[in-house]
Amino acid sequence: MAAENRLQLLLQDPDLSADLKEIARKVLNQERITFDEGVLLYEKAELGYLGVLANHIREKRHGDKTYFNRNFHIEPTNLCVYDCKFCSYSRLLKQKSEGWEYTMDEMFDIVTKYDNEPVTEVHIVGGVLPQYDVAFYAELFSRIKAHRPDLHVKALTPVEYHYIFKKAKIDYATGMKLMKDAGLESIPGGGAEIFDPEIRDLIAKDKCTGEQWLAIHEEWHKLGMRSNATMLYGHIEQYRHRVDHLEKLRQLQDKTGGFQTFIPLKFRNKDNQMSNVPEVPVIEDLRNYAISRIYLDNFDHIKAYWAMISRTTAQLSLNFGVDDIDGTLDDTTKIYSMAGAEEQTPAMTTQQLVELIKQVGRYPLERDTLYNVVTDYSDFQFTEVPKPQYYKLPVIN
Ligand code: SF4
Repeated sequence: MAAENRLQLLLQDPDLSADLKEIARKVLNQERITFDEGVLLYEKAELGYLGVLANHIREKRHGDKTYFNRNFHIEPTNLCVYDCKFCSYSRLLKQKSEGWEYTMDEMFDIVTKYDNEPVTEVHIVGGVLPQYDVAFYAELFSRIKAHRPDLHVKALTPVEYHYIFKKAKIDYATGMKLMKDAGLESIPGGGAEIFDPEIRDLIAKDKCTGEQWLAIHEEWHKLGMRSNATMLYGHIEQYRHRVDHLEKLRQLQDKTGGFQTFIPLKFRNKDNQMSNVPEVPVIEDLRNYAISRIYLDNFDHIKAYWAMISRTTAQLSLNFGVDDIDGTLDDTTKIYSMAGAEEQTPAMTTQQLVELIKQVGRYPLERDTLYNVVTDYSDFQFTEVPKPQYYKLPVIN
């Protein structure tokens, strides 16, 4: 049944409360929902209801199209001057023996390893250390672009930018222009965590504030450039903090139109200072994707990182507003596995990713960073048929 018909049926449900019916009506008429309605969805709406609304929006915007890209990661260091309580990735300076600090040449070597690979993007993000300053990153970006102009450089979050610009005593506008001139092409969504100052102070003290995060993206958008946004959810925040976060993103997007994608990030409790905080169940992940899709009516894309939430949940998420499941990662990123993600060695070939999307009836499209279609895989035939995998079962002789 088409998504619109499901929504019409829902509107006729005599058991649906008047307030939820009003939200469904707004979605059908492409009207914006309010802050209070956002909170109401988190507090009251069931998964099935949210799926109907979010899928309606998803299919209206994208039909069955489901995007992924081919990228690789460079994580300059896992040492960090900050000490975010939820961070399983960073080793503080005192735990230096467990850390790495790549030099410029080592990072450049990673880039050249992909010279003959059909990747379209390098994603650079890691910890914050004094030696990685404005001059360092400007040189890194320009070296990458000089070596491989077709590779899109998506790098660093406002956490790093705020730190390096402050050290260099330059304002955000000057700094972002400098980065753009050096070869930076877009900013990933990280470092947003949760904007509410009280909660942010408890989990991510000292690094850039929510306002500063938004201000850096705003400066970047003013240059005509694009970026992504995230939200870390499922820890000590309450529903109203999530809606506050979405609201601030929606407001900035109204102003600049520079965001491409929103990526909800699930809090994981492995090996960090918040291990006592339980993780939310998968149902809450799906509800959160759906509410994000409904609330952010001015964002084109909602993305789920398959490596973070598992392949099956990623498949499910495609019915809850998600239209992008990230990339064919190899094992160049340790951020997910160190945080206790489902995938400890996140690697998937293009064929596997395409199959994953097709299995749930969606059309796989490889995109570049700016969502230009690189390859349409909906009718693509791979020459190699994947070998069936068998699992050993216990046998009683
Ligand atoms: S989340 Fe980022 S800024 Fe915070 S400690 Fe970890 S690496 Fe550093």
